[in-house]
Amino acid sequence: MAEAAFKKTSADAGAVAAERELTDGFHLVIDALKLNGLDTIYGVPGIPITDFGRMAQASGIRVLSFRHEQNAGYAAAIAGFLTKKPGVCLTVSAPGFLNGLTALAHATTNCFPMILISGSSEREIVDLQQGDYEEMDQLAIAKPLCKAAFRVLHAQDIGIGFARAIRAAVSGRPGGVYLDLPARLFSQVMDAEAGHKSLVKVIDPAPAQIPAPDAVKRALDALRSAKRPLIILGKGAAYAQADDVIKSFVEKSGIPFLPMSMAKGLLPDTHPQCAGAARSTVLRDSDAVMLIGARLNWLLSHGKGKVWGEAPRKFIQVDIEPREMDSNVEIAAPLVGDIGSCVSALLGAMGGSWPTPPADWIKTVTSKREENVAKMAPRLMNNNSPMDYHGALGVLRTIVKERPDAVLVNEGANTLDLARGIIDVYRPRKRIDVGTWGAMGIGMGYAIGAAVETGKPVLAIEGDSAFGFSGMEIETICRYKLPVCVVVFNNDGIYRGTDVNKAGSDPATTVFVKGSRYDKMIEAFGGVGVNATSPDELKRAVNVAMDTGKPTLINAVIDPAAGSESGRIGNLNPQSKLARK
Ligand code: ADP
Ligand code: MG
Repeated sequence: MAEAAFKKTSADAGAVAAERELTDGFHLVIDALKLNGLDTIYGVPGIPITDFGRMAQASGIRVLSFRHEQNAGYAAAIAGFLTKKPGVCLTVSAPGFLNGLTALAHATTNCFPMILISGSSEREIVDLQQGDYEEMDQLAIAKPLCKAAFRVLHAQDIGIGFARAIRAAVSGRPGGVYLDLPARLFSQVMDAEAGHKSLVKVIDPAPAQIPAPDAVKRALDALRSAKRPLIILGKGAAYAQADDVIKSFVEKSGIPFLPMSMAKGLLPDTHPQCAGAARSTVLRDSDAVMLIGARLNWLLSHGKGKVWGEAPRKFIQVDIEPREMDSNVEIAAPLVGDIGSCVSALLGAMGGSWPTPPADWIKTVTSKREENVAKMAPRLMNNNSPMDYHGALGVLRTIVKERPDAVLVNEGANTLDLARGIIDVYRPRKRIDVGTWGAMGIGMGYAIGAAVETGKPVLAIEGDSAFGFSGMEIETICRYKLPVCVVVFNNDGIYRGTDVNKAGSDPATTVFVKGSRYDKMIEAFGGVGVNATSPDELKRAVNVAMDTGKPTLINAVIDPAAGSESGRIGNLNPQSKLARK
């Protein structure tokens, strides 16, 4: 209580020294966060939360101030993914709130627990639309874009407000929660003792959800009888932090596994059962697929169509969200529960003897993988200048191999698609990227969040366009002296830097200033900037950055003609039916 309380003497000088301990909204919010182990806030200060940020920092909460709320929000979102605790983002009203809202919606879409706390105007003025400073009905706007939204109007409800926000964020399928705190709440005063009692320490915020035994049996039966089984691990499996049981289950099954992008490293990409390099083959030819924390959304071609081939197939899905089942195709064996509990139950029910999958299937997958790896190898060893993607990613691949603890952040088009395939990941939750939406702009927010939450060095591999969405946060990285090395794959534009506008003197819509030097940007803030024109130079610069932990930005000069339109998802672009004039 001592922290939250301050003394107030009765204003009536003549009165008997009536002294009582008081607290206020500022301190109750701080105490509610700390009581629940929420010790880091990502945000941007301003009216009405500037003083709150100061007080939170003074109370021992780590408060990281960003240059734009969206980046603070992305940091909070990835903190939620990495820690299983809601990441906290703090913003001012209307415009700040809206900037943070993109990240909150992103967190919800990706099933990351996050709480966006925004200051707001008073209800009386907002509801009558009387034109307050930064007036906006934020609660109503947030609601459809997140898992839950709450507003606290009275200091004595702060404890319950936070309890509800925390539970909503982490229980069941995790997601984003909006918490609306009107300006006047912060200065509301109440008795400290009563305030203290009103706080809630949330017990067991994400209760285990044990799967039904018959569902476990059904899932195993489907898997056991398959001729060409496959396990797909998604980022829900990485989030669950059930790394050991997942590894035991996969290894005991002997079944090839395919990691989705952010599930890479749950088992190393170099694991003999990893089918990452045989992706097309296993998707097309498998006859039973067990999804563990992965959705059959666009990233898996909705479980149907050409990618999945003609052969009949059974899907088994392990997920905490019952309504995820049958979302795209029929799920023959739904297994609902948290991944730790489900996979433990599967492992337990497998018993002593589990049949090894048919040898011809294992051989098909293994030889396809080896063939593809061998095909790729020489391309990764070129030392061309300017660099192509393979030459540049070839050296980064080795650097990550030598530093399996570092966190890899990745966004862009070609930079994303090629890095995902080329760079092996060796430990869980070490690759974080654009996620379910394919959102550009996560880069510096993720890098900061990962550095702060893990204390490990971060390597951010960024397309030049993608980097532009959050580039100003390199000042934040320098200010907090975070061990982040940003490599900007600079190919002078979006997809390629070679487009020409034939209709006028303006540049084409997809190109940037030719020969830009992004490395100069970080020098303005005291960081290390390097211009790298060959894989050798790139390798040297990244090694130094990773070893020293100094904020570094490397401008990696990539051949403007090297990329392809929209990377690997060009098929999602609509095609004009009209002939070009
Ligand atoms: P990916 O993009 O890697 O395929 P998705 O985001 O599509 O992964 O899927 C993640 C899935 O994991 C979601 O359906 C979510 O409900 C589920 N999930 C998240 N956390 C857990 C958990 N602890 N236990 C079970 N399922 C989870
Ligand atoms: Mg580019």
